[in-house]
Amino acid sequence: LFISFEGIDGSGKSTQTKLLKDRLEADGHQVVLTREPGGSAGAEEIRALVLQGDPDRWSARTEILLFTAARRDHLERTILPALEAGKIVICDRFADSTRMYQGLSRGDLRGAVDQLHSLMIGVEPDVTVLIDMDPGEGLSRALSRNTVEERFEDFGESLQVAMRAGFLSLAAEFPDRFVTINGAQSIDAVAADVFAQVRPRLD
Ligand code: C5P
Repeated sequence: LFISFEGIDGSGKSTQTKLLKDRLEADGHQVVLTREPGGSAGAEEIRALVLQGDPDRWSARTEILLFTAARRDHLERTILPALEAGKIVICDRFADSTRMYQGLSRGDLRGAVDQLHSLMIGVEPDVTVLIDMDPGEGLSRALSRNTVEERFEDFGESLQVAMRAGFLSLAAEFPDRFVTINGAQSIDAVAADVFAQVRPRLD
């Protein structure tokens, strides 16, 4: 089973991926928790190239290529081997983040993202958990732990607003795999909702 988590910065994805992993392991499942960009040695190197340094270093289209290259390495080296070994893979962000961030934030490049995806990745998660969160709330959480990327600082809340709306419309576009969870609840309540959505898909 391949599960991805999506949502705006500060939505609580990372906390919830860990809680789901613990819960599934307690039930005897073998779980690989991974993240994007990154999740394999090569993809982590690409992550550093993209997320650190001069925010304008890469053009919008080059950035799509870099994220897709990182995803290809992550898929081959980490995700597919784990799935073949019968493990559950939980991924903190996957292709939907590229559809949103690279596809929407620097012009309308969703078509290019999708074309490269079908050419080079071709895999979607079985379940995508969207942690939906008020953008102002998400941004203040992300700012308080200082994890807003330098290249996104200028966008501030307007980017978060666009990304939230984008994720909700992606959920409507792919209703078979998306589940949307209210991220404004307590951590435990969100975790309970996530598990309730994942449990029926386990067998
Ligand atoms: O989810 P995480 O906090 O690790 O993401 C790191 C940063 O990279 C975030 O600011 C996120 O918005 C950005 N990102 C991106 N494009 C992606 C995935 C993440 O710009 N495809």
